[in-house]
Amino acid sequence: MTGRLVGIQIGAASFIDEGVHTVLDTVQERGAVNTVFLATPTWNRTTGGRAEPGRYPGHGIQDDDPGWVGGNYATVHPEFYGNTILGAIGRAPEYDGWDMLGSVMPEARRRGMKSYALMDESSHARHLRSYPNFLKCLEVDIWNKPARRPCFNNPDYRNWHLGIVEDTIKSYELDGILWSSERPGPLDRLIQEPTRQGLGLITCYCGHCKTLAGERGISWRRAQEGYRKLVTWNADISQGDMPSDGAFVTFWRLLLTYPELLSWQSLWADGQHQLYRDILGTIRAFRPEMQVGWNIYQNSSFSPFYRAGQHYADLSHIADFLKISTYSGVAGPRLHTWIAGISRGVFGDADPELVYPLMLKILGLDAGDYASLPRDGLPATYVGREVRRAVVGGEGRCEIYAGIDVDIPVGLPRLGNRSLPSPGDSSLINADTTNGVDLVQTTPERVKADILAAFSGGATGVVLGEKYAQMRLENLDGAKAALAELNT
Ligand SMILES: [Zn+2]
Repeated sequence: MTGRLVGIQIGAASFIDEGVHTVLDTVQERGAVNTVFLATPTWNRTTGGRAEPGRYPGHGIQDDDPGWVGGNYATVHPEFYGNTILGAIGRAPEYDGWDMLGSVMPEARRRGMKSYALMDESSHARHLRSYPNFLKCLEVDIWNKPARRPCFNNPDYRNWHLGIVEDTIKSYELDGILWSSERPGPLDRLIQEPTRQGLGLITCYCGHCKTLAGERGISWRRAQEGYRKLVTWNADISQGDMPSDGAFVTFWRLLLTYPELLSWQSLWADGQHQLYRDILGTIRAFRPEMQVGWNIYQNSSFSPFYRAGQHYADLSHIADFLKISTYSGVAGPRLHTWIAGISRGVFGDADPELVYPLMLKILGLDAGDYASLPRDGLPATYVGREVRRAVVGGEGRCEIYAGIDVDIPVGLPRLGNRSLPSPGDSSLINADTTNGVDLVQTTPERVKADILAAFSGGATGVVLGEKYAQMRLENLDGAKAALAELNT
């Protein structure tokens, strides 16, 4: 891409509620946007559907959409799904079969804008489990029962995603694909927060994963035994039932006894990254000129453990670009919650106020005091530092785009008629539990400062997120102001 990419994530709801022309004109004129990231498929409210009840931004339809399901907002071509028991991807039930890619792309092109598909794995989505045969693709947990999410190492699940990708890239002249999957692995999950053992999130012991483990010489029985003990450890620490040697020492002792705990985390994470490789290869085979990139989950900013598994030097070999979630405002409440969580996990021997300064040092972040995080968010220097880390880490092999926070909701969700996400869903992992007074709010000045910091850190693009449907238009002006300053 020549010049700076200025992207924005938009779901089908906005085009339906406001009209394709209005939305495209608005983001181009007010936000200096030159690339639209069209959310399809998605079953995830962070990228699809309207704004949360009570948080309407002053455009779009100011009403709840409690029945929103999601799915594919493009036309489905069943011939691309012959290699999976899941069959063709389902059309989203909303909007009467309206084809977002077919309707928006030509209009975007007319305005000189590029179009990317934003594909959201949405592994937690309840609706996915209603697909015939989806149960055969589920992970298996430490108690040998089907878990709640699909397994990356299940060929039917992988082939289903590859079918979606092939269908999309052969049916539409897209400029790029941004693929997103926000899931922490079993070890990350157990050390970073209290996790109820019945949730079926400590995985995966399906036949495919056991076979892969065998190839690596890892005993799945030993891994499963270790994880069962770690689940008990997690429950004890989080309930304040502290072992005499404390949280950290007993955790490390488990690692010494069961090195399979680490091997299994790597096996799980490698499954996710192998799907990245398969998607990239699929696209390269047919549309080598198309840009392909991965969303980097914001957990990478907060958790040194998760970060260690997201190695930019490795990822840069399998991506044209990485979109890193450097959402500065919501980072405040999210980091606050993350610190509170790990202070009831592997750092359960200490209080959040003690854990926090050490984490800032380890993560290379600078921010105000712990108590002020939910109110202040993180400064623009956070965006700049995270971009710089990715640019240096990627050694110039791929572009780095910074995700810019524009009105991402903070505080507990205002659900209206909707149901709460299930505990343990990724929507709560990085959520904040700091509901109360004076939570950070996006301002045009904050958007402008974040964008300037991203480009001065070495980014070649920014992507306004998480979805247009919840963005206040005056905050898009901040993007335009930043670009105007850069272009003078
Ligand atoms: Zn599995």
